[in-house]
Parts: sequence; structure tokens; C-alpha cells
Amino acid sequence: MSTIPACPQCAMENTYPDGENYVCADCGYEWPMAEGARGEDNGAAVVKDANGNVLADGDAVVLIKDLKVKGSSITLKMGTKVKSIRLAGGDHEVDCKMDAGNFMLKKV
Ligand SMILES: [Zn+2]
Repeated sequence: MSTIPACPQCAMENTYPDGENYVCADCGYEWPMAEGARGEDNGAAVVKDANGNVLADGDAVVLIKDLKVKGSSITLKMGTKVKSIRLAGGDHEVDCKMDAGNFMLKKV
């Protein structure tokens, strides 16, 4: 009977409305009703790194393998740090700015 969605943080259903937000009693996570109210099919693209961490704009990532840059002789070395990424959406692509230039990473 409840229309309150489960907690997006810990997936517990011990949640309650608080003003404009839903609040999870288990982990204390709060999120706006406007986004949670649509249920499971909100269509939001989630991009994760190799460790399963969800990536967001401005995150720093480290390459886990050598990457050849198409159309150039540049190879991005494994272990290279990308200071600030930008999620491009679509089919899970990531813009990254590096010393060697700007690249588009594609999730494999
Ligand atoms: Zn929670």
C-alpha cells in the first residue's frame, strides 16, 4: 500500500516522507521525492568504474589498462590518473581531460 520507494542507498524499505524528501531510517540517506517517485524505471544512466563504484561528473579515475587512442599514436598508460571526468550519457561514455588532451572513454 505504501508508495514510498526503497532506499536507493541501502535498498531497505524502512523509509518515510519528510517534507520534500524521502528519508531512510536505516542508513539516514535522504533523497528528493521528485526523483524517487517514478519507481524503478527512471531511466537514469549509471556509470560505474571497474570496482563497481558509481561515477559522477568531476570524479577522478585511474586507468586499469593501457588504452590506445583511436586515430593517433598516443597510448594512455595503465595507472594514468584522470583528474576530472564528465559523463557524456548515451551509451555510457566518459569525457576526460588529461595532460595529453581530451579523450572520450567508452565503457567496455
Ligand atoms: Zn538506506
